[in-house]
Amino acid sequence: MKRLDLAFDTHKDRAAPAAAEARVALAQTGPVNLTGLTQDELAAFLVESGIAEPRQARMRADQIWGWMHKRGVTDFAAMSNIAKETRAALAERFVLNRPSILERRQSTDGVVKWLLGLSPGAEAETVFIPDVGRSGALCVSSQVGCTLTCRFCHTGTQPLVRNLTAGEIVAQCLIARDDLDEWTAEPDARRLSNIVFMGMGEPLYNLDAVARAIDILSHHEGLGISRRRITVSTSGVAPKIPELGARTGAMLAISLHAVEDGLRDELVPINRAYPIKDLMAAIRAYPGLSNARRVTFEYVMLKGVNDSPAEARALVRLLAGVPAKINLIPFNPWPGSPYECASPATIRTFADIVNRAGYASPIRTPRGRDILAACGQLRSESTKERASDRRRRERETAEG
Ligand code: SF4
Repeated sequence: MKRLDLAFDTHKDRAAPAAAEARVALAQTGPVNLTGLTQDELAAFLVESGIAEPRQARMRADQIWGWMHKRGVTDFAAMSNIAKETRAALAERFVLNRPSILERRQSTDGVVKWLLGLSPGAEAETVFIPDVGRSGALCVSSQVGCTLTCRFCHTGTQPLVRNLTAGEIVAQCLIARDDLDEWTAEPDARRLSNIVFMGMGEPLYNLDAVARAIDILSHHEGLGISRRRITVSTSGVAPKIPELGARTGAMLAISLHAVEDGLRDELVPINRAYPIKDLMAAIRAYPGLSNARRVTFEYVMLKGVNDSPAEARALVRLLAGVPAKINLIPFNPWPGSPYECASPATIRTFADIVNRAGYASPIRTPRGRDILAACGQLRSESTKERASDRRRRERETAEG
């Protein structure tokens, strides 16, 4: 299956590059997957494939797009307001495929985790966490693996395989809606209300695809997830932070974890390129920052590493004047991780200091611990299983 990775800037004129991309994709053999296209791009594909005249292409694209994003339809035959011959022509040239679900695990606390097969050798995780945001948050991946090596993060032990396309990011949300059976639910009754880019990868190293995906996910004629309910978390790619805000209007989260450069260099090595001073300057330049649009600072609590009262007080000083909320995250250990989780009492003391300074500092409840909830763990396990299967097959072949 062809992957469509349209790289042009969504803020510029889209018609000409969309037509060019459509011509390239259609010139290849096999059906083209339309998941992840904007309505303008979809219209260009309809024109270039000869399925719609230019003057009716946008109307037709809107119909198809609505079926895809409002109803979750994956079969053109179900699009009852489109003529039968047109549906047949669409099915000949196009598909509406989702990535395959390689594994699904559900925790006793309601967390659901999917391991998705995007293309050969490219697997990514998506996690639904109930009771976060208005009703529940979907944690999506933006890369397979990661180039960064945050010490506490399991994904940081996996090399980067590739960036996800916008379509693959959007598809994570479509799969969750399928699985949660939410296509026909009233908007207020839906459990998936928020999206957080906190899965595998550094979103700001794949900003074009992330921005395109947010345009699609937030579109009022589609999934309609408000940009205020979409949060992008970065490890601190400072030069891209204001651009993220300008292009997406999404909420910002910072994976902070330390309040001075020496320790942050160790825990979040990108800090060596963009130290805390540069990071804070970029955060202060984030468009639209206010008490109604606060930055979330993520702070993983590591025993004896970053959990002292002095560090809590330094955190308060560092954030002075920034509309902020601090999420304290009890560390979720994974096999081979060099850290332990801070004790509940230490975390409470830390939270009290930050709270007394006027910042909301919720302690995140550990979720999904029974289903390999550390980011990247399920993918590692699946890769290990494949390797052991391969070794077993090789042994069996050798034994004849
Ligand atoms: S925390 Fe994010 S940026 Fe850091 S290694 Fe993990 S996935 Fe990559």
